[in-house]
Amino acid sequence: MRALFVVLICFVTAFGCKKEDAPQGELLNSNANGFVCRQCNTKFFTSRSVYANHCPSCKSAEVAQVIGFFCDKDQHVTLTPKAKSVLCEKCNQLIGQVRLPSAAQLTAWGAVKKSEDDVK
Ligand SMILES: [Zn+2]
Ligand SMILES: [Zn+2]
Repeated sequence: MRALFVVLICFVTAFGCKKEDAPQGELLNSNANGFVCRQCNTKFFTSRSVYANHCPSCKSAEVAQVIGFFCDKDQHVTLTPKAKSVLCEKCNQLIGQVRLPSAAQLTAWGAVKKSEDDVK
């Protein structure tokens, strides 16, 4: 539990713990990995244990991981490719609280679930 807490703090405060290559098991409270293709803008997600190597549509390796930014004011989660902070879609306020989007949030955002075979 303690390790979990440390990782969480690390993720929330720094977000730059440079954990991009960390085992996906360290991604907390999420059952999915969300991605968006920088080439064709396809939104997709995989199960938590799968990390996409390329886009399922155009096969480009230019895929960006998607994270959520949580707005305290209106509880709205804005999904976007990795960034330090982002403007809330609802109230246009700058938010920096990182949350990992769930499969349900990713689906609502327009992402489609892909299997390991599609992205490896
Ligand atoms: Zn693509
Ligand atoms: Zn807001």
